[in-house]
Amino acid sequence: EKAEIGLIGLGTMGSNLALNIAEKGHRIAVFNRTVSRVDEFKANAGELADRIVPCHSLAELAEAIRPPRPVIIMVLAGKPVDEQIAALRGELEANDILIDAGNANFHDTVRRFRELEGSGLTFIGMGVSGGEEGARHGPSIMVGGTEESWKRVEGVLTAISAKFKGEPCAAWLGPDGAGHFVKTIHNGIEYADMQMIAEIYGILRDGLSMGAKEIAPVFGTWNKGRLNSYLIEITAKVLAADDAKTGKPVVDVILDRAGQKGTGKWSVIEAQQLGIPATAIEAAVAARVLSSLKDERQAAEKAYGALAVEKIDAPRDALLKDLELALFAGKIAAYAQGFAVMAGASNEFGWKLPMPTIAKIWRAGCIIRSEMLDTMAEAFSSGGAEKNLLMAPAFVTLMKGAHPSLRRIVARAAEAGLPVPALSSALGYFDAYRQGRGTSNLIQGQRDFFGAHGFERIGEQGAFHGPWNSAD
Ligand code: NDP
Repeated sequence: EKAEIGLIGLGTMGSNLALNIAEKGHRIAVFNRTVSRVDEFKANAGELADRIVPCHSLAELAEAIRPPRPVIIMVLAGKPVDEQIAALRGELEANDILIDAGNANFHDTVRRFRELEGSGLTFIGMGVSGGEEGARHGPSIMVGGTEESWKRVEGVLTAISAKFKGEPCAAWLGPDGAGHFVKTIHNGIEYADMQMIAEIYGILRDGLSMGAKEIAPVFGTWNKGRLNSYLIEITAKVLAADDAKTGKPVVDVILDRAGQKGTGKWSVIEAQQLGIPATAIEAAVAARVLSSLKDERQAAEKAYGALAVEKIDAPRDALLKDLELALFAGKIAAYAQGFAVMAGASNEFGWKLPMPTIAKIWRAGCIIRSEMLDTMAEAFSSGGAEKNLLMAPAFVTLMKGAHPSLRRIVARAAEAGLPVPALSSALGYFDAYRQGRGTSNLIQGQRDFFGAHGFERIGEQGAFHGPWNSAD
């Protein structure tokens, strides 16, 4: 009996995705570059082994799948994907579908799409979020390609996806690179979310001298309220865990140097290219880079003296409430930025990205899943958020209630000497966004002064120049 689908790349994500597919009743043919992993995988698949067809070459893989063949490629992003596509082209036939499920840069996806045009093969660029657990039990799946190709794989992809109150978290989002673009912005938002959580942790740890064990239940409690989300849930768990070696809280023995694989940086690059402000995401990426400069930071601490943190002196309960609301407000601003970048890209590339659908498929399965995304899905569906999430009536109300806390917390942190780059960027963005008359009138004056760039006058048409002359 032939398999219905194939998968290449039995790493962390690929092997879990393959088990998920098998569990949903599909026969799946699998291949991996290090061929020994193929038989190992089947041997460890337990009761699902019957549905797994181990293949030791790409030719065997093609032979094992019933045409037209859907083949998922889940290998290291970049050159390996191009190599796999090149190798598969010789083995596949017209109408077969190649699905790149790794974290591709969407520019690569667009290029691959074009390269395969006219070859008879169909290409899909698919973003998958949810880590190992998600891949195994239900990830969020963001698909880019032709709508026709989506229809052909919709059944299996919705079956393996996470469900939010029964609704599958898998959707077709637009042509060619749309799915991978949305996945990239998902990750950019994830960076901002994580950084803001870390900043709040910093205030609790250094400003209030709370230990990890004391901070864990704070996040645990917040997870039951408006901040309810996967990232807050795991934050509480990470803070509560003990190190087996020392018996200390494990966070206290982890080096403060954050890794990154590139999707955060890509979000920022694309936001800049599109001319859409994404300051909280930019701050989060920069904070990871700064975190990696451990030696320099230690030298700077010597040069400037250890951070003269002034303990934050305020009634604990009121302060905790403020911290919760500050994080909530910061999160709203960061998501508003991420969605604005997607709206900009949708415009630029003619994608028609469905914002309500994107918010909906992020409600379960993915790393940034949260209760707030349900509110966002409603806001995008009911209108008012076309230009910016901050303009959706529901979010105007939420933000009005929360921004005073963000303001107080950023101010307190600044006074105490505690870095809050993402929270303060979110606040700066919000304050600039809601300021009907800003200060760029001065910038226009300066530009005209030194470069004769001209300026517009309030309520008048045309370009004007100032009363200065270059001799001044
Ligand atoms: P792993 O490192 O666990 O697995 C990598 C896989 O790629 C292995 O099967 C490996 O084969 C294969 N591979 C590497 N180089 C080549 C090559 N040159 N030619 C053929 N195959 C190659 O990675 P993950 O499973 O974590 O990630 C896979 C993709 O999924 C990446 O694009 C990643 O960014 C993305 N992703 C990862 C998430 C995660 O949480 N880990 C979440 C969402 C997406 P071999 O066994 O021979 O080395």
